[in-house]
Amino acid sequence: MEKRKSAAQPTLKNKTLTSSLSSPAAFHVLITDPLATEGLSLLTHNSQFQIHLKVGAPLSEWEDLLQDCHCWLVRSETKVTETLIAKAPHLKVIGRAGVGIDNIDVEAASRRGILVMNVPGANTLAAAEHTFGLILALSRNIPQAHRDLSSGKWERKRLMGSELAGKTLGIVGLGRIGREISKRAQAFNMRVLAYDPYVPLEYASSLGVEVTSLENLLNTSDYITLHTSLNEKTRHLISEKTLRQVKSGARLINCARGELVDEKALLKALEEGKLRGAALDVFSQEPLPPTSALVKASQSLNLILTPHLGASTEEAQLKVASELARNIVDYFQQGILRNAVNLPGFDAEILEKLGDHLSLAERLGRFSAQVLSGGLLEVRIQCDGTYEPNQRRPLAVAALKGLLSSIMDESGISWVNAPLLAQERGIKLLETATPASSDGFFKLLTVSVKTETGQQTVSGTVQPNGELRLVRFGSLTVDVVLQGKMLVLTNQDRPGVIGLIGTLLGKYKINIADMRVGRKSAKGEAAMVISVDEDVPAEVLKEIKSIAGIQAIHWVKL
Ligand code: NAD
Repeated sequence: MEKRKSAAQPTLKNKTLTSSLSSPAAFHVLITDPLATEGLSLLTHNSQFQIHLKVGAPLSEWEDLLQDCHCWLVRSETKVTETLIAKAPHLKVIGRAGVGIDNIDVEAASRRGILVMNVPGANTLAAAEHTFGLILALSRNIPQAHRDLSSGKWERKRLMGSELAGKTLGIVGLGRIGREISKRAQAFNMRVLAYDPYVPLEYASSLGVEVTSLENLLNTSDYITLHTSLNEKTRHLISEKTLRQVKSGARLINCARGELVDEKALLKALEEGKLRGAALDVFSQEPLPPTSALVKASQSLNLILTPHLGASTEEAQLKVASELARNIVDYFQQGILRNAVNLPGFDAEILEKLGDHLSLAERLGRFSAQVLSGGLLEVRIQCDGTYEPNQRRPLAVAALKGLLSSIMDESGISWVNAPLLAQERGIKLLETATPASSDGFFKLLTVSVKTETGQQTVSGTVQPNGELRLVRFGSLTVDVVLQGKMLVLTNQDRPGVIGLIGTLLGKYKINIADMRVGRKSAKGEAAMVISVDEDVPAEVLKEIKSIAGIQAIHWVKL
């Protein structure tokens, strides 16, 4: 393992700590990444926990400690692999000080019943403030002015700035960070617009924010700041096409995810003067290579680059460490579960009995999120057939978690916080049931999502061989495996449509794995679910949409 430097907060020196020698510790905690010292005091001052600090030490120095370890705390550096998990027979909790869990094999942990906890939201203010710093730096040319002066130049004319007061700020993604940005912008007397197709209007207006379309936001905002999660709809949200819609002279800030921006198109827009400036904290490749075109352009264009500093404040690191320490102590001593990303706080027996039905509920939620439109108002789960009353709530939470994970920053959604996040956004979660089997299914699960523009209903079932199948889409009957990549279309049933779609996909070398059509009556409303092996690019989706009779098309990835 690589040697690492500690975070800005002082970290404890590598050693083993027990707060009281008189009572033997009940739990062994292994820490292999740098965490803020002060934040860990709840753990280090608790005689029940023995802390083994092995920050940056080679694996050979701590591998043996896994044998007795109950809890393993990391940041993003240590790779928590299946092989290492297998060496820890007593491991109960893996704690991630931060949000992303890419470095942890969550599936392997789940198979062993090990909780994976993270700390979402602790860096919200840090990221919001960094974004605001960049907005100000962009409007007053602060980095360029510093660069000039430190090389002996005093050129005030060239560095004329502009004021934020009276300007329009467009926020793309009104989640945790977007919300904080909106408050700060209003304090600067800015008009605040937001584009977020999943937040109800009422929620946005309670924040004093005007909700608008992406196109309107782009062509009216003086400053555009990105705070959306990364998903299939937001990858390259800022592209050559959307940059054409941007108001001339606008400034763009990205402190969310590098993949939201097509960096080539951004550079072109800066060179052509369409954008007056841009500030990026995140990149498609990190660390940003010194040879990158962005680095080169930052020497001459109004382009400010920071090395993913959004969450890097002493306070955020401290908050992450102290929240994690509190969650660990509460879990081991009182059984209180706060941010488990992999297991809900439900009775293990109920969950075991539900088995694949939990995955079905989660997949139906994920599917719904990708075919609906409009601000979310209500999620209803209908359990038909032989589901037991105590199974409804876990199924509802699983569906909600799946739905929110496809919309919000996935690593920030856990079984525990999904209902709270829904409540915060004004989304109702309902469970209903009928003991009678529906359409001959032993058990049929239906997820209905009410949005500001309508209602979307999908139903699924688990086959005896464990296969998850989508059996209803709206009022139409379909039958397709709920996995992989799918095109979901609604159309007017007419001859030739299926052939045209097949030919078009063939032309772009996209292989059809399965195709199911559901319809109410001949020549009436129909739905098509096409499972494909390859990704379908946006241009191809557009071409399919233009086929006569196609009403809507959705790209779904499960
Ligand atoms: P969040 O999940 O609270 O909010 C994300 C918002 O994006 C949600 O409101 C969701 O409805 C919205 N959204 C989803 N799809 C959208 C679409 N197609 N168009 C517009 N909006 C859409 O997440 P957050 O905690 O506010 O984080 C926001 C982003 O910032 C995430 O991408 C996160 O990874 C990133 N982040 C970066 C740093 C950093 O160091 N630079 C630190 C923290 C978070």
